[in-house]
Amino acid sequence: MDEFHREGGVLHCEGAPLPDIAASVGTPTYVYSYAAIENAYLELVDAFAGLDFMVCFAVKANSNLAVLRSLASMGAGADIVSGGELYRAVRAGFDPKKIVFAGVGKTEAEIVSGLGERILLFNVESASELENIERLANIHGKKARVALRVNPGVETGTHEHISTGHAESKFGVTVEEARGLARRIKGFKCVELIGVHQHIGSQISKLEPHVEAISRSSALVSELKERGHDIRFFNIGGGLGVPYDYENDGELPTPAQFVDAVRPSLEASGVKILCEMGRYIAARAGLLLTRVVYRKESGVKSYIVSDAAMNDLLRPSLYGAHHEVAAVAGTGGKVSDADLVGPVCESGDFIAKGRDLPDSAESDLLAVLDAGAYGFSMASNYNSRPRPAEVMVRNGNWAVVREREHYSDLVKGEVVPAFL
Ligand SMILES: *Cc1c(COP(=O)(O)O)cnc(C)c1O
Repeated sequence: MDEFHREGGVLHCEGAPLPDIAASVGTPTYVYSYAAIENAYLELVDAFAGLDFMVCFAVKANSNLAVLRSLASMGAGADIVSGGELYRAVRAGFDPKKIVFAGVGKTEAEIVSGLGERILLFNVESASELENIERLANIHGKKARVALRVNPGVETGTHEHISTGHAESKFGVTVEEARGLARRIKGFKCVELIGVHQHIGSQISKLEPHVEAISRSSALVSELKERGHDIRFFNIGGGLGVPYDYENDGELPTPAQFVDAVRPSLEASGVKILCEMGRYIAARAGLLLTRVVYRKESGVKSYIVSDAAMNDLLRPSLYGAHHEVAAVAGTGGKVSDADLVGPVCESGDFIAKGRDLPDSAESDLLAVLDAGAYGFSMASNYNSRPRPAEVMVRNGNWAVVREREHYSDLVKGEVVPAFL
């Protein structure tokens, strides 16, 4: 991404030198480029040209208020999966009429909040959830707009933890069940069926699964319309992948290639298209800035111990995910078969494993690239580590958009009871 570039050998974000940010804010720190977020969003918008559409941002990918506000101001909608995300999305300024609510386990309180905010629609994932929505809408005197999340039964070829559209996934209902639920909704007083939803997984690197799934779901849209349902939205989900491993991932489908490949099915549906991209919009717009604490040689292996750990960036430990690691400054020398690890007391705590890594000295800065999606949003306080700061850069200006946590934040809400 051009938004991250070198000047005099030093890595910058939109003109701001990363060493300056590290000196002022400390490390580890997530650094986001406003322009990179905007460019990815606009790339999606351009891809859908000629269709009636709305690009919703999957809030779980990066739920920082500044990131959300940026996207809300650009006109994006929001795809949420919890009451907490609804709270954030509304605070960030998303128009509730542009918010869609997915998730297999929406609680009563979450459904009531969604009804109260008059969100665009609930993506319903089961018969029980549908009954719950009807009951709660009735009690609260509301009309609930819903889309049925169908599981089109395709394999995506990605990691099993991020694949959601195959037959044995907890998400959605089968096409057959969806037909049954649609029939039942006709007898409901407070639920209006206005859409079909699907989301088959994340970091999908091929077009075929999308083409297959969207074609099946589009047929369901047509079928439900023929049966007299007023379907107005076809939500095709997210899942467009980005290249994380620059040597091996090769070229991934662009938004334009993706939309062109599914355009016949989108057009055939004859309704407004919603998409819910998270990773594609945010991943490459962020990096995790970290400082080398120690170098360590152990037998044949070289370890670089950084002040960032699995609690800050979980993807490598959780999915075996690859992130490129770049020196912020320095000579460009490499150390081979090296691990970049954090200080957390788990062997699974690594950022990069068995790689050619920058031959950095203690106190040098490293940048873990493409960490803008599912980075901070998956961070935890494991090992009682305060979560990192977040910074946004826009055209040379930068601001802390989330303070580094303090030790006092670690014990917030904890109580030592009187009987101790
Ligand atoms: C996670 C999720 C997305 C976003 O997936 P990306 O791979 O980040 O684009 C979209 N829709 C739903 C329902 C999700 O759960």
